[in-house]
Amino acid sequence: MRFPINLACRMAQYIAGKKIFAVQKFPLVLMLEPLHRCNLRCGGCGRIREYADTLNQELSVEECIDSVKECDAPIVSICGGEPLIYKGIAELVDKVLQLGKYIYLCTNGQLLEEKLGLFEELAKTNRLVKQRVFWNVHLDGTAAQHDSITGQAGSFAKALAGIAAARRAGFYVYTNSTLYKQSSVDDLLALAEVLSERKIDGMMIAPGYGYDVLQSDVSSLSENEFFLTRRETYKMFQEIRWRMRRFRLTATPVYFDFLCGERDLPCAAWANPTRNIKGWKGPCYLITDKHYAGYRELIEQTDWTNFGFGRDDRCKDCLMHCGYEPAAVLFGNRFRDLIRTALWQLQ
Ligand code: SF4
Ligand code: SF4
Repeated sequence: MRFPINLACRMAQYIAGKKIFAVQKFPLVLMLEPLHRCNLRCGGCGRIREYADTLNQELSVEECIDSVKECDAPIVSICGGEPLIYKGIAELVDKVLQLGKYIYLCTNGQLLEEKLGLFEELAKTNRLVKQRVFWNVHLDGTAAQHDSITGQAGSFAKALAGIAAARRAGFYVYTNSTLYKQSSVDDLLALAEVLSERKIDGMMIAPGYGYDVLQSDVSSLSENEFFLTRRETYKMFQEIRWRMRRFRLTATPVYFDFLCGERDLPCAAWANPTRNIKGWKGPCYLITDKHYAGYRELIEQTDWTNFGFGRDDRCKDCLMHCGYEPAAVLFGNRFRDLIRTALWQLQ
């Protein structure tokens, strides 16, 4: 199974319910950022740069829970910044699970081994911790590649130790790798071999995005030297599809077609709304025109027809999962797509 069967069934039931009632725009994954502070400073990270003036601020656990209720997506991705430096992280996870949600807990893994005890303790009173929390550890390549992107020697080894500890403790563990110009499929293959030995549950590979805010601050490289163009992304994913087919990648078949340039999809950024210290970030996880006071305002006051490839220049090289993975799930509904997705999920 690519993802646990209970999660796949929950999502299928949720989407079917929305479609029966002809709801046009609904959330699949809430991107919840309780803080933007981080213990790393990666070259491709927009968050620590865009939110440099609020790095010392945090959402309270209550504000986070109010946002989870307000948006009501079945999956909550707790990200940041680094969520493991958020003091209320165990309480937040506990309360989100009590609301019946699934959690992607995104981390750079530097504190994973050290903080795992918090979650093992929580699992004694809340059995859902080991059933509905999916660790999502950021690894951009093997040691040399990853450490050069994070700018910190030893960050790969630390994350890997955290992954091994989480697997030994019986947690679901996935990884998340972002591709830049300096990435190579050879290195990803080597990473996948290492991760297979640790028996991780799956590997997400996504193209990076050239945030406006980064253009003058990417390790002294210009945007064009750091981020992949659309064509380069297609080429790299065609190679990944061929050479990495024996590994458990988490991109759905329809989204993978899109990443390989074999299929068009509309951007569905409205399905993955982002809530952070400044409000509800619009229009998407990547670009910011405005922060809205509430989820409804974000959905109703944004003209979604303005966004996506060919509509806004900032979208021209974006193939990111936050806009297009939900589109692949919601609009890849030809019979052949459903069969391919079902078979893929069973592998
Ligand atoms: S670990 Fe994540 S949040 Fe921290 S700097 Fe790197 S990309 Fe940004
Ligand atoms: S295509 Fe969608 S997800 Fe990508 S930058 Fe544009 S609005 Fe955001």
